Amino acid sequence: APLPPHSEQEPGRTAGFVIVGGGIAGVTCAEQLSALSPDDPITLLSASPLIKSVTNFRQVGRAMEEFDVEEKTTGALQKACPNVRVVQALVKSLDTDKHEVYTEDGETFPYTKLCICTGGQPKLITKDNPHVIGIRDTETVQHFQQKLANARRVVIVGNGGIALELVYEIEGCEVVWAIKDDSIGNTFFDRGAAEFFLPHLTAGKCEEKKPLKRLKYTLTESSVDSPKKGETAMGGALGPDWKEGWRMKGKQDQVAHQVHVEYQCEVQEVLTREEFNRLGQAAEHFPGTSRAEEQNVADDWPVYVLLTNKRLYGCDFVVSATGVVPSTGPFLHNTQFCVAPDGGLRVDDHMHTSVPDVYAAGDVCTASWEPAPQWFQMRLWSQARQMGSYAAKCMVADRDGEEIDLDFCFELFAHVTKFFNYKIVLLGRYNAQGLGKDHELLLRCTKGLEYVKVVLQAGRMQGAVLIGDTDLEETFENLIINGMDLSPYGEDLLDPNIDIEDYFD
Ligand code: FAD
Repeated sequence: APLPPHSEQEPGRTAGFVIVGGGIAGVTCAEQLSALSPDDPITLLSASPLIKSVTNFRQVGRAMEEFDVEEKTTGALQKACPNVRVVQALVKSLDTDKHEVYTEDGETFPYTKLCICTGGQPKLITKDNPHVIGIRDTETVQHFQQKLANARRVVIVGNGGIALELVYEIEGCEVVWAIKDDSIGNTFFDRGAAEFFLPHLTAGKCEEKKPLKRLKYTLTESSVDSPKKGETAMGGALGPDWKEGWRMKGKQDQVAHQVHVEYQCEVQEVLTREEFNRLGQAAEHFPGTSRAEEQNVADDWPVYVLLTNKRLYGCDFVVSATGVVPSTGPFLHNTQFCVAPDGGLRVDDHMHTSVPDVYAAGDVCTASWEPAPQWFQMRLWSQARQMGSYAAKCMVADRDGEEIDLDFCFELFAHVTKFFNYKIVLLGRYNAQGLGKDHELLLRCTKGLEYVKVVLQAGRMQGAVLIGDTDLEETFENLIINGMDLSPYGEDLLDPNIDIEDYFD
């Protein structure tokens, strides 16, 4: 029987589509469901007062896309999608037999189809230490910024996107960057690309080439003042331009940009000053400062970090940027979810979990289908959007008993971003992931300008890293998708004097 319109429904009475999570995955899922099924009730439950929404979406290739992320009020979503009701509530449990979701404040939400989009939480190197912080949402960035304003030195741990952006942005404060790999940005780059970026760590920031858009990540008065519902609830993860508009300046005006990288190490222990004193090991001085200079300020740090290479650094605080753990907590009690080794809810090629009528999308899920040769999951905003949108299509198709093919966006990994103010395009198996030794690389690098790497296997392009304004992305995307044998072209492929676009037209 058709369901009554939203205005006539009572909370907790009418089942329909229910989504948990107001991040990019959840909001995109709600919008897509609303577009496909405008007469069905859709309820979005989110712990955060503001929701994340994709704006200025641009399809820049067959798989490549660019968009901005904005925080919106729940009212804005409800206005755009009249059959979506947004409820600010922390979900605390789920009964998959009864098809009901329960919130912390005692409400029950029945569902016919449920999509879990609860994202992830920063993986902290140590819990409950006030000197160790993670960065995930607007509130945590604000906390970071406040701490940084009074800091002389910070230790950043981790080698992913957040760490890369932080070390580049922070000024007025010494940065010790501890990474477990032998080159920086290992999640995205090989050693060659890391070399390309290294000079920028010490030389300071590149001039902005054009005015940067300022995105609005704000906290409303009420969300700052009111105690947060549920200690563990977090806001949606920030979008790609999260650090713009935030002042990232430490206490030392004379220090412009000072980064020291500690390679191939992890944090062995985080020590209080008392523990440091008991240990009796001398703390390192920041490279470039003399022991005497250091002595003036040394040994009175609020916290010390002992690395596995036995170096010991004092600092004002530590940023733990070592990835996220999927937020599955409320759903695993008394349920039959298959959980992947990385802690995500396993989903099949219909974004369906192992539990009937429950789907998952975004950072909380782990893609567990046999992927296309040049696609793999990475917890990125682009994939959160794609998964949210595709999950909605699957939910509607399944309800209507229709077949649906895996979306094209899962054919090729594509990520367009910016690091150190350079445009970055990553395509396919851009770091030769999973290709074994049987592959070759073509490289082209102009110092300070561009870095191009192509991964070939049996003459076919499997992936590419494009740094700078190379203009090669669309051609390369097509070459990867078409699987054309490129052996006859050899190194001409990267010859700057050949217009590659014309070549393959
Ligand atoms: P989230 O955005 O985490 O949203 C989860 C939502 O679920 C939130 O609204 C939360 O309040 C809600 N929720 C959680 N638990 C509950 C509950 N129990 N009950 C109700 N609601 C709940 N990706 C890129 O591609 N490029 C970048 O440059 C980039 N930079 C980043 C920088 C930072 C600082 C961070 C933290 C992440 C960055 N990412 C970046 C990753 C990207 O932001 C995430 O992959 C993406 O936002 C995940 O979206 P999501 O919707 O799955 O989860």
